[in-house]
Amino acid sequence: MEYVPSGKELSHFPFLKKAQDPIRSRFASLGTILSTPKGEELVSFAVARIRDALSQKKTRAPEVRDSPEDEIAAYALARIVVSCVNDKQLIDRLTRYEAERAYYFLVNEEEWNSRYTQGEGEYSRLWEAIVDELGIRIENNRMPVPDYVELVAPLHEDRYRLINRRVEQGFVTINRDERYDLLRERVRVLLRRDLPHRVPKEVCELLAPKAAEIKKVYQEQMLRQFGKVEESAFPPCMQALISALAAGTNLTHAGRFSLTAFLHNIGMDLTGIAELYARSPDFDIEKTMYQVEHITGRGGTGTEYTTPACAAMQTTGLCVHRDAICEKISHPLSYYKVKKSRPLKPAPQNRETKNAGDPENT
Ligand code: SF4
Repeated sequence: MEYVPSGKELSHFPFLKKAQDPIRSRFASLGTILSTPKGEELVSFAVARIRDALSQKKTRAPEVRDSPEDEIAAYALARIVVSCVNDKQLIDRLTRYEAERAYYFLVNEEEWNSRYTQGEGEYSRLWEAIVDELGIRIENNRMPVPDYVELVAPLHEDRYRLINRRVEQGFVTINRDERYDLLRERVRVLLRRDLPHRVPKEVCELLAPKAAEIKKVYQEQMLRQFGKVEESAFPPCMQALISALAAGTNLTHAGRFSLTAFLHNIGMDLTGIAELYARSPDFDIEKTMYQVEHITGRGGTGTEYTTPACAAMQTTGLCVHRDAICEKISHPLSYYKVKKSRPLKPAPQNRETKNAGDPENT
């Protein structure tokens, strides 16, 4: 008998087609809905969802608060709101959250919900419904090598490298936990691929107050997360760009863009960024301010740019002097976060520096 998920079950996996189809007609005229009290309520659910994605302690709202349809609509609206904000990192946060949420429900509910169970050794109905739709081919704890390679490409853990896997007759063996991890990754990639949506201007205008609220929460959280700017925790690529500036080298557009976006993302203000650029012998205040304002979203477009990820930095030749931390991260901002969270090592004390009579110390 075909498994037909209930509304509540669908609200836990709102990206599934079966969940989306019923609300599609409701969203046919988005502008009209948003102007109604119901629309406002749905937007407030969507904002709560984005706030949950941004918060350190996520609730994932395991209980459906109102109707499953509202829960699914809130999922879709949250994606529309972040599309209007159009900040890459915010979009990443929301998609990671949705993937984690689906993972949470799948792992927890499959265990006890008898509606999902099948015969001995068979995967649950829920699992099958999801992987069918997501196009994941896993059978008998094995996956075809090409599918596996594509799926694990964004993962950085050594255990997922093909060289560390058992491969037999074109299939990679995977255990139960890994099966869930891979599904979560697939959900994340698929949900990310569709964003940002192309949202009509008038809809974004209606959502502008909420988008501004989210932007503010996100900005505050970023600043709290990164805390005081510490140049010593900058990744090697950014240190190299600053050294090149100080040496009077003309940075490429990609170099200037990456450095400015990085400094802005870690919470440095416009003046601080301009001061860094002032280390360059051919510093031009007007040109610098124009570029900085453009990249930080204060220029005409209002778009705030995000530091490119390590892969993009490699492509533009900006990934240099990699160190041990670089092996564990995929984004210069993650490098900064990791390094900043590490306790400072005491400065090495050698006989020379301890010697008060040393001419270097006078
Ligand atoms: S790996 Fe990333 S953080 Fe490290 S130097 Fe390259 S771009 Fe910078």
